[in-house]
Amino acid sequence: MAPNTDTAPSRNFALFERAKKLIPGGVNSPVRAFKAVGGTPRFVQRAQGAYFWDADGQRYIDYIGSWGPMILGHGHPAVVEAVQKAVLEGFSYGAPTEREVELAEEIVRLVPSIEMLRLVSSGTEAAMSAIRLARGATGRSKIIKFEGCYHGHADALLVKAGSGLATFGNPTSAGVPPEVVQHTLVLEYNNLSQLEEAFALHGSSTACLMIEPIAGNMNFVRASVPFMQRCRELCTQHGVLLVFDEVMTGFRVALGGAQSVYAKYLPGFKPDMTVLGKVIGGGMPLAAFGGTRAVMEQLAPMGPVYQAGTLSGNPVATACGLSTLRELQKPGFYEALGERTRSLVSGLTGAAAQAGVPFCGDSEGGMFGFFLMDKLPQNYATVMTTDSPAFNRFFHAMLDKGVYYAPALYEAGFVSSAHTAADIEATVDAATQFFAAL
Ligand SMILES: *Cc1c(COP(=O)(O)O)cnc(C)c1O
Repeated sequence: MAPNTDTAPSRNFALFERAKKLIPGGVNSPVRAFKAVGGTPRFVQRAQGAYFWDADGQRYIDYIGSWGPMILGHGHPAVVEAVQKAVLEGFSYGAPTEREVELAEEIVRLVPSIEMLRLVSSGTEAAMSAIRLARGATGRSKIIKFEGCYHGHADALLVKAGSGLATFGNPTSAGVPPEVVQHTLVLEYNNLSQLEEAFALHGSSTACLMIEPIAGNMNFVRASVPFMQRCRELCTQHGVLLVFDEVMTGFRVALGGAQSVYAKYLPGFKPDMTVLGKVIGGGMPLAAFGGTRAVMEQLAPMGPVYQAGTLSGNPVATACGLSTLRELQKPGFYEALGERTRSLVSGLTGAAAQAGVPFCGDSEGGMFGFFLMDKLPQNYATVMTTDSPAFNRFFHAMLDKGVYYAPALYEAGFVSSAHTAADIEATVDAATQFFAAL
């Protein structure tokens, strides 16, 4: 069990102090700074399987897995071997390779809505490029997104809702001029009447509707099946491209992504475009956007929509992604992963119920969320009613017991195929102790 390392002479503490002198906030991506939960971020020294070890040598059961990519756990032997082999053949060429073709073939085979795709280096880049392509392909400017969905940090997507449907969004970051987000309409997730109204007003001038089908950037909130069905119908009716941001859910919730989960309830369901990242790189910088041939052929050098990247389709990243995707196709992979993840959520829920603590959770495949409330929330505003001091106490209690959850209440969690029944049991035991002490 890890001691509290929040004070010197902890190495985590010393590294954080050093980092803060040179790197804004001491981190290269804000959530890592533990600002929401307080305390000292753990500086990771190494990771293996379901665990990582911090700079003080403490071991943690890792429920972040690099925010999703590490679906096989850390250091999977087949992936390590593929990456080692690729490294010896060169790091980057800036010229096409066979492995890019293989990865594209694999993704197209596994995700039926994708007929063509392009590889990029981050989810942000993929989402940003998908929007440009949607605008170029439709000749329209407006885009629709939903409050609580995150699509990376491109300017046009850093927006919160305006005061009404007639007004467009307001920037959520300094440095984004209001003019840049004037075409972005932000709607409430799972709100059918707002969706209807938005299409009635703006359908004919909207290029695309971008959505996280299972939203993992407001913890874990599913788009309801009727809501998704209506999104599809309205997009088709108005010539708006339905873009699924599956950077998190792609190959994480099922082999065919969240779209395959909706297709179970809505036969033949497909988005027009899909944005992928995280798992498809297996932990290396790799992402993609794809869709119908007609749309994708608008991209340079075939069509008029420009998009490029020096490191796009990087040979080491594609080796990592490809070997990861091959492991996922082994029989029973998602059944076992889904079962393990459900056992975590039901274990935590049971422990809370025994102690009379309000708690609920949900999961799909290897992605989960839990809430310190009685009922699963349907939108961002409800997620944000979470008692955040209570979440922070839970987070730190679990951290002290060697369990690493996301250091913010609006983030999803991830289980890998390396997590064992004993890991889940240890996690549930830690939570049981916390709940009992309340
Ligand atoms: C992580 C994420 C992104 C951004 O990906 P980066 O690789 O961090 O740029 C975009 N969309 C969703 C749904 C994500 O979860």
